[in-house]
Amino acid sequence: MLQQTTVAAVIPFFERWMARFPKVEVLAAASEDEVLTYWQGLGYYSRARNIHQAAEMITDHGWPDSVEGLRALPGIGAYTAGAVGSIAFGWDVPLVDGNVERVFARLTVCYESGSKLNRLAWDWAHGVLAKGHAGDWNQALMELGATVCRPVNPSCVDCPVSNSCFAFASDLVNELPVPKKKTEWVELRHIVVVPICEGKFGVRRVPEGRWWQGMWEFPREEDSVPGLDELAGLLGSGWEELGKIKHVVTKHKITVRVFIVRLESEVSGLEWVAPEDLDGLALPAPTAKIARMLYGELGLLV
Ligand code: SF4
Repeated sequence: MLQQTTVAAVIPFFERWMARFPKVEVLAAASEDEVLTYWQGLGYYSRARNIHQAAEMITDHGWPDSVEGLRALPGIGAYTAGAVGSIAFGWDVPLVDGNVERVFARLTVCYESGSKLNRLAWDWAHGVLAKGHAGDWNQALMELGATVCRPVNPSCVDCPVSNSCFAFASDLVNELPVPKKKTEWVELRHIVVVPICEGKFGVRRVPEGRWWQGMWEFPREEDSVPGLDELAGLLGSGWEELGKIKHVVTKHKITVRVFIVRLESEVSGLEWVAPEDLDGLALPAPTAKIARMLYGELGLLV
C-alpha cells in the first residue's frame, strides 16, 4: 500500500484491510472483486491483484525461505523482498529505496541518476550490510534518509555519519543526488459511452491486458477515437455528450470524453446495474469520477 502513497493516506485503508483480512489465508479465500473494493481509492490496482495472488500462492505452498522465493511472488520487487526478508524474517539481505539511494549518492559523491544510481546503490548496500542485524541496519539507513539526510535541507550537523560523508566534506551536499530526467508525458484520448436503459447503467469487466483489468467500467474506447459524426452513427439516436474528465496513469495524461446513450432495450455483453449498486463494484478512478458526474454533480441522469 505504501508504494506511491503516503503513510498518512494509507492508515485508514490499512486498518480496514487488516480488520477484513487479518491472515493471509483469509485474503486468499476472498474474491478478487472484494479485494479490489477494499483497495478502492489507493489506485494502482495491480498491487491489489498481486497481493491477492501472492496470498493464494503462500496459502498453497507456504512462505518462501529466500529472497529469490519472495521475488517469485507477484508484485514483490527487489526492495520489498529485501525489506520483508531482513525485517520480517531476519535474513542478512540489503535493500535500497529512494532514501537509501540519496544517502549513498551523498556519502560516496555519486553523480549517476536513474537506474545506474540504483544499481550502484545496491552494490554498496551489499557491501556495507551489518550482518546479523540486517533488519535494524536497513531501517536505520532508510530513517537516516527520511529524517536527517532529507532531499532538501539535510541536517548534516546532526548526522551520525557526517565524518564519513564525502559530499559533506566537499560541500557538495546540495548538488546530490543529481535530478532524474523529467517525465515525458504521453497524451491519450479515450471515449466512454454510458448506456442507460430503464434506470440502469450498462457496465462491463475491463478486458485482460488493459489498465484496470478485472474491474468494472462503462464501455471505453482507448485505441482509436472516432470523430463526432462517426460516433453519432455508432450510437444511433438518443445520445448526448456529458463532458470531459482528465486522469493521469503513470506517465500518461488521459482526456476522457463522456457520452450517454439512452437505449430502449438492454444490449447483451453488458451487466445492467441500478445506480445505487454501482458503489458496490470495484470501479477504477476514472469510472468512479464519471459515476459522480452521473448522479452526483449533475443530478441523477437515469
Ligand atoms: S552528512 Fe549530510 S549529506 Fe552526508 S549523509 Fe549526513 S545528512 Fe547526508
